[in-house]
This record gives sequence, C-alpha cells and structure tokens, in this order.
Amino acid sequence: MSPSTEIPARPQAAPGLGLRAENLHRSYGRGRDAVHALRGVDAAFAPGTFTAVMGPSGSGKSTLLQCVAGMDRQTSGTVHWGPTEITALSERRLTQLRRSEAGFIFQSYNLMPAMTVEQNVALPARLAGERIDRAAVTEALARVGLADRRRERPGRLSGGQQQRVAVARALYARPRVLFADEPTGALDRATGTDVLRMLRAGVEQEGRTCVMVTHDPLAASFADRVLFLADGVVVDDLVRPSAARIADKLSGAAC
Ligand code: ADP
Ligand code: MG
Repeated sequence: MSPSTEIPARPQAAPGLGLRAENLHRSYGRGRDAVHALRGVDAAFAPGTFTAVMGPSGSGKSTLLQCVAGMDRQTSGTVHWGPTEITALSERRLTQLRRSEAGFIFQSYNLMPAMTVEQNVALPARLAGERIDRAAVTEALARVGLADRRRERPGRLSGGQQQRVAVARALYARPRVLFADEPTGALDRATGTDVLRMLRAGVEQEGRTCVMVTHDPLAASFADRVLFLADGVVVDDLVRPSAARIADKLSGAAC
C-alpha cells in the first residue's frame, strides 16, 4: 500500500526559511595534500522551494549540503538561514537552531537499532528537550504508512520501510527546512517515488524549503530547480527541468 501524501496543515504555520551560501570554501587537510571540496560556491535556496543538487561523484555535493545544513564547518564563506548567519553562531546555538528548524534524511537511514520505530521518530524532539506528543508521532508514522509497526525495531523492517521511518522522523516536528542526501539511493523505484512525493508534498502543503542531493534524474525532476556541481563549484542551474533534460545535462558533463 502506498503511504498517503496528504499532510495536515501545521497548527502554527511556520513557512520555510530561505537559505544562502556565499563564497563557500571547504578544504580537508593542508598544503600539498589538501582536498578542496568546495571552491567558492554561491547558492540561494528560496523559501518554500525544492532544490536538487547533482554532479559527479566527489564534486562536493555532500559537503555543500552539510555546510548549508550547519552540520559541517566551512573553511571560509558564510551561510544564512533567513536573517541568521549560522556560520557566526556558537556550536551550542547552531545545534539548537538545527534541532528547532531542520530535518535530515540520509541514504543510510541512520536509525537507532536498539530503539523502537516510534522512539526513533521522537528522538530529535527528545534531544531538543521537547515534550513528546505521542499522537503526533503516530500520525507522522501513519503519514508514511507505518503506524502499525511503531513498536518494532528498525531491523525488522525492509530498507524502504526504514527510510519511511527516517522520513517520519524528519517530518514529525514539521521542520522549516529539510536536507536530504541521496534519500532514495538505496530504494527501489516505487518506494523511492513514494519518498519523493512526501518531500514534494511538504514543500507544496507546508511551504518547507527542501535541499536534496541526488544522482538520479528522475528524483531531481521532483525539484523546482537543479544545481549542478563540478569540482567544487556550481556549473549550472536549471529551473523545473524534465528528467530527460537533466539526464542530457549529466551525460554532457560526463558523469
Ligand atoms: P560528493 O557528495 O559529490 O560525492 P563529497 O562532498 O563527499 O562529494 O566530497 C568532495 C571531495 O571532498 C571528495 O574529493 C572527497 O574525497 C573529499 N572529502 C569529503 N569528505 C572528506 C573528509 N572528511 N576528509 C577528506 N576528504 C574528504
Ligand atoms: Mg555524497
């Protein structure tokens, strides 16, 4: 059964935040052995839009996502979330902001194996010191079609079901921004499409800002816009491209 993509309106509507990276550099190591993963990226992500980030393996996609998401520190440059320069915040304030405003989905699910499905969904809220709303946890799981599995451990679920738990975890708090790194990379086509529809629904129904790294043109075609990276810089930027146009662009770039 396909999970529902109907997402009830957030009681206290909080529209998506605009994100902005300016002259972002990220290097690993120093001197001759340094790897320059980002070499001066300028990118803006408008509030309530869905952007896909594409490019060859090693082009800096994950590094860009992590720096824009405040999970990694840039070597130089700035990142803003709305009016807030997150690159100027202390680690503590940044962690607070991330927990209150952002959701994250990774290719490898990153679920806690010893916790139940519902404990996994509630974990970010628990870490943020919030009261857990069990009805809302169940509702988040119902949205991804897994309310009846809430007492189980993730290891008993299929990969696609585990990623749906990760989606429920990311969306439970109705974050204003959602970051996803290859969220459908390990899923079959049908399950991947379900996940993409859920991300899309959050953008359209809740005004969420979504940034997703993917190498799949079909996944990227769910986005409003596709940024292409090569060798640590933005080399192209397409608005509402079709999957075919994206595939053409990628083959032109020889990825
Ligand atoms: P992508 O997601 O596009 O495949 P990444 O952002 O993961 O690319 O990596 C960009 C470059 O930075 C690659 O050359 C990669 O090897 C390097 N890199 C990424 N993370 C690290 C790290 N922690 N230490 C050293 N080099 C890294
Ligand atoms: Mg990557």
